[in-house]
Amino acid sequence: MDQINLKTHKPKVLVLGSNFGGLTVARLIREEAGHTVDITVVDRKSYLLFVPNIPLEVFANNDPIDKLHMPFYHFLKEDNIDFLQAEVKEIDVVSKNVTIMPVERPGSASEKVYYDYLVIALGARLDYEAIPGFAEYGHTVSDSYYGNKLRRYLFNGHYKGGPIAVGSARFKMGKKGNPEWLNEMKAACEGPPLEISLGLSDLLEQRKWGSSKNITLFTPGEYIAEDAGIPIVKEFLHMAVDEMKMGYVNNVGDIKEIYKDGIEFINGQSVEAELKIVLPNWNPHVFMKDLPIVDEEGFLMTDLYMRNKEHPEVMGVGDATALAAPKLGGIGDMQARIVARQIAKDMGVLKHPADDKPFNPVIMCFGDMGHHKAFYIHSDLFYGGKTGIMKMGHMYYAMKMGFKEMYYRTGGKPPGWGIRLTEIVGD
Ligand SMILES: Cc1cc2nc3c(=O)[nH]c(=O)nc-3n(C[C@H](O)[C@H](O)[C@H](O)COP(=O)(O)OP(=O)(O)OC[C@H]3O[C@@H](n4cnc5c(N)ncnc54)[C@H](O)[C@@H]3O)c2cc1C
Repeated sequence: MDQINLKTHKPKVLVLGSNFGGLTVARLIREEAGHTVDITVVDRKSYLLFVPNIPLEVFANNDPIDKLHMPFYHFLKEDNIDFLQAEVKEIDVVSKNVTIMPVERPGSASEKVYYDYLVIALGARLDYEAIPGFAEYGHTVSDSYYGNKLRRYLFNGHYKGGPIAVGSARFKMGKKGNPEWLNEMKAACEGPPLEISLGLSDLLEQRKWGSSKNITLFTPGEYIAEDAGIPIVKEFLHMAVDEMKMGYVNNVGDIKEIYKDGIEFINGQSVEAELKIVLPNWNPHVFMKDLPIVDEEGFLMTDLYMRNKEHPEVMGVGDATALAAPKLGGIGDMQARIVARQIAKDMGVLKHPADDKPFNPVIMCFGDMGHHKAFYIHSDLFYGGKTGIMKMGHMYYAMKMGFKEMYYRTGGKPPGWGIRLTEIVGD
């Protein structure tokens, strides 16, 4: 990395993306590095979409737009961070320029923005387009548009009480540059299918539309949500399949096609379903694919300090990074803290050198189960660790909802001790 003369030049930090990863990292960089850097954030939208709560709002017949769009502009302004509402079109890591196009009105002209530090927090392209039949016959809950489409199907009298299939398409994970402990995953984020199946069971019973027996879970791999750790998955399957009598189909490989009455998989199996709720492949954005800083799929390759080895001025946070496996907001939060410290360290203003630790992932998530109950998973079994905790109850629902309130109140900058507190209370 070229030496920056900090006496004559205030380094320009350009953060691409402003959802969970981008908003948090931009604000933490300001906190850690103070005013030693100029910070600019680029996103095509000016609000954060609180993705994890979409399923529960949809099943409560609430429009996700009402509660899950959090405008972030004033938080950035308070922190003296510039915001550019624009589409990222191209990244040039040699000239250190990003080409963006303003998106507020069509017809805008592209511009180049120079950076000294680039933080890529652009998430991934959730590739529903790659699933034949999805537009006509598929449903999902990963954004407000699809959440509302499912809500209308369920609550406007379209659902006829038929079978429901819930599961994921195959995730194409890169291997290049990954640490040994990072195992291959066959689905990018399988907490949502677990949560959807439980939330839906409750809704079906409440409305007398059916029961958990209507639902079949499917997974491309041997175990659904294997990243939670096999003992935890087995406990979940015991509840869902043995006790609640859901169907379970594994090793399907990938979704071949969604058709009117079901889903066909590439292993030749199929599941009959009136309602097909799927999560797709998390595919990197097209402009990421051929960059010299990405793996064979297009995810940003970094070391455990979230810096690209060849271009250490390029860092990454969240779903766009190869190290984020599974794709979870909580993982992005851990990475954001590391990136903020790296920049503070380069500026010579790192406040707590003892906190300057490498990425050491742990899965921590809450999933709605209906009845104002939630499950809580705290596990590092997937990475070879020894922690594997799953608990269920009303308290975890309160913690899930409390996290959202705290996230909104702090403007996407949850306190660092929040994770430790969650562990203490949750475990
Ligand atoms: C249904 C569902 C439930 C989930 N539940 C949980 C959960 O309980 N716990 C958990 O930890 N995780 C959960 N996740 C995963 C979590 O949502 C993601 O890991 C998280 O959103 C990733 O954050 P990110 O900032 O890396 O990417 P994203 O949230 O995808 O944000 C990327 C940002 O970049 C912007 N962007 C993208 N491309 C461009 C471009 N070309 N130009 C300009 N801007 C661009 C987008 O507008 C967006 O604001 C869930 C996911 C789903 C789908």
